[in-house]
Amino acid sequence: MKVTKQQQAALARIAADLARTGFALPGSLTEGSYRCGSPNCKCVADPPQLHGPYALWTRKADNKTVTRRLAEPALSQYRPWFENAKRLRALAAELQALTLGMVRTPPQQPSHRPRPARSEGPPQPRSTRAK
Ligand SMILES: [Zn+2]
Repeated sequence: MKVTKQQQAALARIAADLARTGFALPGSLTEGSYRCGSPNCKCVADPPQLHGPYALWTRKADNKTVTRRLAEPALSQYRPWFENAKRLRALAAELQALTLGMVRTPPQQPSHRPRPARSEGPPQPRSTRAK
């Protein structure tokens, strides 16, 4: 596998960016307002005044979506960690795209296709039918 100077430089840049990235929290940070459901609350009045907006941290944990409301000072403390996680995802995607560009031609792929319409034909590899 020949790695070009550009690919090597791109890898070094991504690795340096990764090394600079600090703590990272999974999930996403959104702002949301909501109705509490209480029948006499201002949030069901006309016009409604919803509660919030609150910062909501949503993530997957054990195959479940977990949402947690964040208030200050936690919000200010966590916010850069969400930014770092976003940066990590972008860098990982960039690294994978770079590497994918290096393996465009799979090494196992034959350079020419087997000829069709032969009586014997090429043996089917790994056939699980025969038993
Ligand atoms: Zn309410």
